[in-house]
Amino acid sequence: MKNLILIAAPAAGKGTLSEMLMDKFNYTHISTGDILREVSHEDTELGRKIADILKTGSLVTDEIVFELLEKRLKEPDTLNGYILDGFPRTLKQAEMYDDLLKKINRDLGIVVIINTPYETLKKRIVGRVLCKDCGSIYNTLTGVNTPKVENVCDKCGGTLYKRTDDNEESFAKRYNEYMEHTNPLIDYYKNKGNLFYINGENKEQMLEEIEALLHD
Ligand code: AMP
Repeated sequence: MKNLILIAAPAAGKGTLSEMLMDKFNYTHISTGDILREVSHEDTELGRKIADILKTGSLVTDEIVFELLEKRLKEPDTLNGYILDGFPRTLKQAEMYDDLLKKINRDLGIVVIINTPYETLKKRIVGRVLCKDCGSIYNTLTGVNTPKVENVCDKCGGTLYKRTDDNEESFAKRYNEYMEHTNPLIDYYKNKGNLFYINGENKEQMLEEIEALLHD
């Protein structure tokens, strides 16, 4: 499968789309946010440093994120196609990633921008809950993907929880970070010629649009 980079504002649909692509095409999902959240629970200096940054909604430094990503890409499950969800988030990260691809002789694949209106993003963030065990995503506000039983995962029965940064204040900060640091990546990849847009408002439509890109 083609490697995929998903670029989108917080809660635009990266996680939901990744879940569908994993189910349908057996993609490996690499979310730098998930990796950072895991490290943030470790009782180490690095873990505490990351936890403090995540709470505020600011970006973790390029060097820390890149080191964690490079380590993840050495694992064999990345050989048959992976989705990068939440990386790169800065121009520096995109350049570091290009150098790494050359070094390890892998393809960039395609870069997909998910377009979702601001008000939809905000509602999704404030109502978002996730499964502690399998990571499935639900929403208690939008009327889409409401868990059948409150606080219980429909798929595996795991307990649902809320991310510490899924609140209105942190959303505003994360959205600004996105506009300032991540949006410039659009031009970077447009110039390379492998950039595509999909609409993030409807889950089924998102899957259809991306399937068309994958089959091209
Ligand atoms: P996400 O799960 O993608 O919404 O990311 C959650 C948080 O993790 C972000 O608000 C950042 O603090 C941090 N993060 C995730 N990916 C990156 C990245 N590529 N560069 C810097 N910080 C990141």
